[in-house]
Amino acid sequence: MAQRKQRPSSKSHPSKRNPGASEALQGYYMDSLGFQAMDINVPGLSHVILQKLNMKNYEDYRSAVDGRKPATDFGIHTYFDMFQKMEDTFKFCVECKKLPASLPNPRSLRRCKRCQNVYYCSSECQRANWSGHKKFCKKLKLAAIDRLVEWLVFTGDIPFPVNPWTKHISEVRSWEEWFCMQEHLEQKLGSIMTGHYMSLLWSNAGKPKPDDGELLESIKRLTSDFLSRPLTIGFGLNAFHVDTCTGPITVHVVGASHIETLNTRISDYDELAQMFPGNQGIEVVMVGPEVTDGPIMRPPLAAFGPRGKVYLSSFKGLYHDFWETLVESQQAARPNLVVGFHPGFHASQGLTEGWFPTLLLLRDYKIPSLFTMYNEQELRYSLQILMELETNITAHGINPFASLKLEQVQSNPNKQPVYSNSHYIMFYGLSGEDEGLNLGELEEKEDKDDDEA
Ligand SMILES: [Zn+2]
Ligand SMILES: [Zn+2]
Repeated sequence: MAQRKQRPSSKSHPSKRNPGASEALQGYYMDSLGFQAMDINVPGLSHVILQKLNMKNYEDYRSAVDGRKPATDFGIHTYFDMFQKMEDTFKFCVECKKLPASLPNPRSLRRCKRCQNVYYCSSECQRANWSGHKKFCKKLKLAAIDRLVEWLVFTGDIPFPVNPWTKHISEVRSWEEWFCMQEHLEQKLGSIMTGHYMSLLWSNAGKPKPDDGELLESIKRLTSDFLSRPLTIGFGLNAFHVDTCTGPITVHVVGASHIETLNTRISDYDELAQMFPGNQGIEVVMVGPEVTDGPIMRPPLAAFGPRGKVYLSSFKGLYHDFWETLVESQQAARPNLVVGFHPGFHASQGLTEGWFPTLLLLRDYKIPSLFTMYNEQELRYSLQILMELETNITAHGINPFASLKLEQVQSNPNKQPVYSNSHYIMFYGLSGEDEGLNLGELEEKEDKDDDEA
């Protein structure tokens, strides 16, 4: 929930003053900014959310996200409780912003019947809001279904089992084509539809069950949301002509936070191995000060990983520290590709400066790099920053593997929706260097041939 309003200062230049500290704060900063933004739109909403999670304050929330404190049961004892508490965090009047507690009768809050998503304290407020809401009501209906069906990602129903790709990635240019490639797609979707958790979901959701067509589309959107990150990495590997078949390859995810690492299972990026049949092993290292503890918290590979498989690992710390301590000392491989999912470095001067050490390192070491954004405006601001840093931008545009799931701004739903990884920028080295992409040379240097001896 990063803020994306402010324009970056136009004269930004690498700052030498304490850049590490600002980067260290970045994840924390963005997250607490999200909480603040929430309270600016709907005063008190962040408290409601913390209260629903049985937490006293924002610090408690951070501790739980970081895994510093043993997870509590959040006071949730039944499935009905769980869905109810989640829905409660959406309960405020979209027009006058009142929370249930500040209404004479908290039960007077009513849901929009069409979208089953937003609430109103009175029919006056609903009428007053309609001119703004009608533009988004249809999309918010999908978002309301998705926020329930998303539970099936946690139960393991989504994504369905997949097979190795039968087409080269350059021939798969959209989700539609990706779904077409899936064998027995109807049976696979059907077994999610009729599964135990799907029926448990709708008997506890407290909302009418959507029709089958709507549910199928929701499953597809959530599948795309789950797989958007690995497919975007694959898209980048292909664009930079990284050869996965001649040797093991390494991808670093910079600025990884709890969004990428909380509850991440070691199999979550397996789709990458399916994308590149015949690969010699693909390692993905999550690097960032906000990386959370979990199954993927294990050291990066110093040598080769398992062939034909994806190996996930993490490093909790700043990227240039990771580089100095592990990459320079060859305890971790140099990356064939570096990816940043929504770094948000366009969002404010502080964040931009925090990212400088990383961006300059990537530029100066000529690491093929790919960053994603939530929308076109972010793309434009980010391009400007990267051009001011004189990076050699090799491509940018709409990501064919953007998530199809709408990101609803919880505290301000009547807003143009955004989608994860919707846009991308790729860069490589310094601009003005004549040769452009000399990838042949790069690949030779990067190959880890340790496993062949
Ligand atoms: Zn109202
Ligand atoms: Zn509506």
